[in-house]
Amino acid sequence: RGVRGNFVPPIRSAGGNTGGISNSKISGKCDDGLEDSTRKCLELLCGPDGELPEKLRNLEPHLIEHISNEIMDKDPNVRWDDIAGLEHAKKCVTEMVIWPLLRPDIFRGCRSPGRGLLLFGPPGTGKTMIGKAIAGEAKATFFYISASSLTSKWIGEGEKLVRALFGVASCRQPAVIFVDEIDSLLSQRKSEGEHESSRRLKTQFLIEMEGFDSGNEQILLVGATNRPQELDEAARRRLTKRLYIPLPSAEARTWIIRNLLMKDGLFKLSEDDLIVICKLTEGYSGSDMKNLVKDACMGPLREALSQGIEITKLRKEDMRSVTLQDFDKALQEVRPSVSLNEMGIYEEWNKQFGSLS
Ligand code: ADP
Repeated sequence: RGVRGNFVPPIRSAGGNTGGISNSKISGKCDDGLEDSTRKCLELLCGPDGELPEKLRNLEPHLIEHISNEIMDKDPNVRWDDIAGLEHAKKCVTEMVIWPLLRPDIFRGCRSPGRGLLLFGPPGTGKTMIGKAIAGEAKATFFYISASSLTSKWIGEGEKLVRALFGVASCRQPAVIFVDEIDSLLSQRKSEGEHESSRRLKTQFLIEMEGFDSGNEQILLVGATNRPQELDEAARRRLTKRLYIPLPSAEARTWIIRNLLMKDGLFKLSEDDLIVICKLTEGYSGSDMKNLVKDACMGPLREALSQGIEITKLRKEDMRSVTLQDFDKALQEVRPSVSLNEMGIYEEWNKQFGSLS
């Protein structure tokens, strides 16, 4: 404003939702226009002195709130024992990321770990479960974000959300940031319609990764994809360990059936039955197996109802246990979701870029 210019009164941003936090001491009494829920959320991130950490001060409060409430999972309830098979991946992940998160003092210098892990393979094979198990086993905070939601739901704000994500994670160390469908964020395709905003989003993401990679932060980025061939070279370089998460072996498929049925007290199949089901489910993913078991479990229920028992009066004892015939029927309904052609692509990519040992 020039000397003769009109006086322009300061305007508070609507609902405190669009600007940075004007006063870092948010637990004080100042009226900063923040909603109660946002204020509470920020207070939880404040240090013992009641100050908001430096890294969060220029971020938008409503994004910090979104990260804390929707993206941060305080109790990722998965352990290694919940995951069938994948022994190779479990061993690599334990050495490469869990030990360093538990003992940062030992994993320094030459032993300093990579900060980026890529899990690739067909959908429904346990990549998300592994991400949660890492956080569970390493007692780390788990952040889950789907990259496609960043590019669709958060158009224009994605960049700021990424900054908020890494900012909150750095206040919640050790932390695991799991980015699902990471290919949609770090893809090499330069489609004609690529928006300026998605290019900026990608740059911001790589900058954040660079930032924590060079520092002493205990943050691990886990990217998951079922289209690894779409990742560009910069993404591959930052995701130093790349683990193939294949379809479950026959043993793992048996384990999934047994485990799910036992949990519900419905397991009565013989070993021979299991061998037959296993042969028939070659090519099924872990999530296909789960759907198959669910469908098979409907068999006894449908049968009891067809005998005239009303659903409201049905007791658990009225239903027989799940049999091989139920699985036979379910196999007609639940087909494998991954084609053989796709498997070839993963195996090729694994040979070229995967961490084989
Ligand atoms: P992805 O992230 O690879 O697409 P998820 O980890 O989300 O797959 O798995 C989807 C569901 O399939 C899980 O919730 C689980 O019920 C089942 N599942 C997949 N793989 C396994 C596995 N290896 N062991 C046990 N359950 C599995």
